[in-house]
Amino acid sequence: MRPQDATGICAELARGVLARHAAEVDRDARFPKEAVDALRAHGLLAAAAPAERGGLGADVPTLARMATALARGCGATAMIWAMHQVQIACLLAANAGGELAEAVTRVVHDQLLVASATSEAGIGGALRTSACAVEREGAAARLDKRATTVSYGVEADALLVSARRGPGSPPADQVAVLVDTADAHLEVLGGWNPLGMRGTCSPALRIRAGFEHWRILPAPFGDLVARVMTPLSHVLWSGVWYGLAAEAADRAVSHTRARGDAGGPPSGSLAEMRWRLAGLEAQLGAAAAETQDVLTGAAEPTVAFTLRVNSLKLAVSQNAVDVGLAAMRVCGMAGYSEEGSHSVARLLRDLLSAPLMINNERLVAIGSQLALVARER
Ligand SMILES: Cc1cc2nc3c(=O)[nH]c(=O)nc-3n(C[C@H](O)[C@H](O)[C@H](O)COP(=O)(O)OP(=O)(O)OC[C@H]3O[C@@H](n4cnc5c(N)ncnc54)[C@H](O)[C@@H]3O)c2cc1C
Repeated sequence: MRPQDATGICAELARGVLARHAAEVDRDARFPKEAVDALRAHGLLAAAAPAERGGLGADVPTLARMATALARGCGATAMIWAMHQVQIACLLAANAGGELAEAVTRVVHDQLLVASATSEAGIGGALRTSACAVEREGAAARLDKRATTVSYGVEADALLVSARRGPGSPPADQVAVLVDTADAHLEVLGGWNPLGMRGTCSPALRIRAGFEHWRILPAPFGDLVARVMTPLSHVLWSGVWYGLAAEAADRAVSHTRARGDAGGPPSGSLAEMRWRLAGLEAQLGAAAAETQDVLTGAAEPTVAFTLRVNSLKLAVSQNAVDVGLAAMRVCGMAGYSEEGSHSVARLLRDLLSAPLMINNERLVAIGSQLALVARER
């Protein structure tokens, strides 16, 4: 498949296998196995990897459009796909050699599913802080982490886990470890019965793993976060939320058309949804292009860049919820219903997770600090 065909294929899958199972995946809060299998069958789990490493070679703007297309069928599947792409991009950017490079090649080639465990009990979403530490014993190492939220961790083939470099390291001296789930003991702590994004299957997990030293990524964790993890997460998550909101807006338009003249003049909310979406699309496109430049090394992840990708996350996560609410107002009871072609209930419930995925309050606090020191445009 050529990267330029990928968005169309995602749209087809969204209308087909994703949409077919979305309601059941949501109702049962179960992993969307059929959808992820279909993505794998089309080579889409390796989308972010370059062609010479066995991937699709999709650039960041293409990945964002793919996320949007998938979200129209099933938000949880789209979010799983987006989070997995971020892990692939981190692994590829990690300057791995030897056995780690071979393991990364295997992840791409076999389209193994990789989950992320950065959140931690007592720390929440403070990405650049860890309590858990890697403990070394000769050639072996181990970690024991209580992560608060790990999407599809139980279903994943591997986990990218953040931890302190060693027991004596300060909280911000971190590394990322590629843990093979076959070598780990995963204990699900508590249940998973959230409002939305139920198919991401993201319970708290205690991760106990033994591994060889080469599984510790050599790239400094802070660098990986600034260059890859944060910007790509914000762009691809935003792609998902934009897709959910656009789908809700389309359902509102379709509902208004179906009511015809009997429903009176169209609601002003239709126009409101369009201007909000147009703004988000422009902001998303600009941030995706800029993130592509940072990923390729053509640009540096400056403070101003970090502020812009954080601002993207804040803007999309808030405006997409507003679009979902407007769609609900327009569709009335048909939108409030969990069933029917004009239901926006699941879309809205999924969207309500957006302000929490790296809590907006946390990002606002960081953003205000960054705004004081950012000097460029
Ligand atoms: C659908 C979904 C999937 C997820 N998947 C994953 C995953 O796969 N892997 C993973 O590691 N995590 C995942 N997360 C976790 C997520 O991204 C956050 O890191 C985590 O939810 C943080 O939890 P919290 O908001 O309860 O904690 P916190 O971030 O600690 O926030 C709790 C409260 O404290 C406040 N607060 C804390 N610190 C500050 C501060 N400095 N300034 C201002 N306010 C502050 C916040 O406003 C908030 O009200 C997922 C979350 C969601 C919703």
